[in-house]
Amino acid sequence: MIKEVKPKTQILLKKVVAESNNEIATGVFILRFKRTFDFIAGQVIGICLEHDGDPRLYSIASGINDDEIQILYNIKPTGKLTPPLAKLKTGDNFYISPPFGSYSGSAEPAWWIASGTGIAPFLSMFRSGIGAGKVLLHGGRLKEFFYFQDEFLPVLGNNYIRCCSSESSEGLFTGRLTDYLRQHSNLPNNIKYYLCGNAEMVVDVRDILIKKGIPFANIVSEIYF
Ligand SMILES: Cc1cc2nc3c(=O)[nH]c(=O)nc-3n(C[C@H](O)[C@H](O)[C@H](O)COP(=O)(O)OP(=O)(O)OC[C@H]3O[C@@H](n4cnc5c(N)ncnc54)[C@H](O)[C@@H]3O)c2cc1C
Repeated sequence: MIKEVKPKTQILLKKVVAESNNEIATGVFILRFKRTFDFIAGQVIGICLEHDGDPRLYSIASGINDDEIQILYNIKPTGKLTPPLAKLKTGDNFYISPPFGSYSGSAEPAWWIASGTGIAPFLSMFRSGIGAGKVLLHGGRLKEFFYFQDEFLPVLGNNYIRCCSSESSEGLFTGRLTDYLRQHSNLPNNIKYYLCGNAEMVVDVRDILIKKGIPFANIVSEIYF
């Protein structure tokens, strides 16, 4: 099942202040601001730079009890929002919508499968205390794109599988996460598989899982377009 997340037609935008906006890997940033609302791990907010702007959606990467909200994003060089967003400095204002969306996890065992910044909702769930019993499969082109390995590895150990498509290194699977899944037999078919990232990855992974006998109803997807 693919969960489509659409912003509400009339989003009430609120002005917030950037606490920091740091580049953590080439072209990848974390934007931080003070948390003033409750949310469910896996939800998104709309972000824009003007009060009457056209918000883009971003998963919240923070835990539900954290004092700050973190947004993980990468620059789309031809994009409308992300190039100017990356220039935001500490103390600058920007605008956010209330949190929304129904993409959420549970404490049950599951596989979390993410490409690139699609790791954000799983980081939120992990930081919110539902990481136990999870296998986290993360795909990235370069070693530097496993931004949160120091947080995941001590807890998940071998259940944090980093699939690196353009570099090799000890501890990394060399190849795309789809290659890893194709080579992996005996995937449990009685648990949920949560997918998050670009459309190509989500569609390919869903096809692989279905061919391996995972019921369609056990596949929960969120697409970043
Ligand atoms: C539910 C959800 C959650 C998301 N969460 C995150 C997140 O946590 N982190 C993150 O980095 N991103 C996330 N995204 C993606 C994010 O919303 C933006 O799409 C992304 O940051 C690009 O925004 P932009 O304004 O810079 O680019 P845009 O201006 O939206 O353009 C993006 C790309 O599409 C191309 N493009 C734009 N319009 C067209 C068109 N009409 N036809 C063809 N190509 C076009 C542009 O050239 C550019 O390469 C999420 C998306 C969704 C739907």
